[in-house]
Amino acid sequence: MNWTEIINLELNVDGNEKYTDDGILRDLKERPDETDFENAVDITELYNNDEEFKKLWDEITSFFDNDFDEDYYLKRKVFEKESLEYILKSMFFGVAVGDALGVPFEFLSRRYFDENKVTDMVGFRTHNQPLGTFSDDSSLTFCLAESLIDGYNPTDMAEKFVAWYHDGYWTAHGSVFDIGYATRRAIERFSTGTPSLLSGCTGENENGNGSLMRIAPLVFLSYFKSIEIRFLLAYQVSSITHRHIRSAISCFIYLEFILLLIKGKDKFEAFKEIQSDIPNFLSEIEIPTAEIEIYNRLFSEDFISLNENEIYSSGYVVHTLEASIWCFLNTDSYEAAVLKAVNLGDDTDTTAAVTGAMAGIYYGFDNIPDNWTNVVTKKEEILDLAKRMTVRFRIFM
Ligand SMILES: [Mg+2]
Repeated sequence: MNWTEIINLELNVDGNEKYTDDGILRDLKERPDETDFENAVDITELYNNDEEFKKLWDEITSFFDNDFDEDYYLKRKVFEKESLEYILKSMFFGVAVGDALGVPFEFLSRRYFDENKVTDMVGFRTHNQPLGTFSDDSSLTFCLAESLIDGYNPTDMAEKFVAWYHDGYWTAHGSVFDIGYATRRAIERFSTGTPSLLSGCTGENENGNGSLMRIAPLVFLSYFKSIEIRFLLAYQVSSITHRHIRSAISCFIYLEFILLLIKGKDKFEAFKEIQSDIPNFLSEIEIPTAEIEIYNRLFSEDFISLNENEIYSSGYVVHTLEASIWCFLNTDSYEAAVLKAVNLGDDTDTTAAVTGAMAGIYYGFDNIPDNWTNVVTKKEEILDLAKRMTVRFRIFM
């Protein structure tokens, strides 16, 4: 399938291709051989209340006849609840702490930080918000997570973004003090009747980091899906606010990287895998070459060893993706990664939030400094969100 065919597929409430016998069997066929069985189990698990699908399940299991291992199936079904909740907590606080570290310094140029290195969380300054205040990056991340708890539904996601913008839903202190241009326009379009998947901005100059900064929770829905569906999920969820293919690809690369981190890969190995697999996949699905080449630097061998003055920290999605991966790979703790991101200047909160999701997952909640997690606004609500999302996603993992 090429990418235009992929983005025309319809997804159901589980984020799978809308289920037709055709779709499911194609999905199976396109998955890597060694995981076919796992994936078959996963797919049917989602439909086990459906009579009709039961029939299809019998057909699918007949492909695997003797390999059906009931024990293994049950073990997978009861994925350890504690570890999933821990990963979610690590990711949510990874984002919120990075965001809150950057908020007071947003828009300051890198030259400022050369002489005033940020080493700790402070309050006020740029947005005049108290210590621990997170911004749009975390709010919209939490809106997405909240929506995923009720199933995959881009319209519900967009409605939650509207609730955030108008009613202060999932804001730190009840109102929005920070919103990107494309996100605002998309929310306005959606509010006046444009469907969620068509609300996002499509201009080449509308590739800000506004979808990348909130996309991380989607990785939990992507976990067992084929790469085509993972691409489609990234594309659709980005499209609510950012519908240009470049933004979607940035989200996709980021999610693929996080997926490998969740699977327990070493961060350098994971990045190598991304660098070799993603460009191939993007060519296979016939993404225009010019759009793939945008990522040449990220996919180049010497990306990690680029000098800091070659890393840009503007609000452009490609800059944010590069800067956050670069900060994550050039440090060896959560603390060092997000501080490096903030000290790059400019879009400090978003670069640190995007870095923070990766670093949070990789180093774990217990290695995010206490004095930061303890002062982040809505700490209890965030912990509760991780708990509720665990209940929903346990069966997937
Ligand atoms: Mg922000």
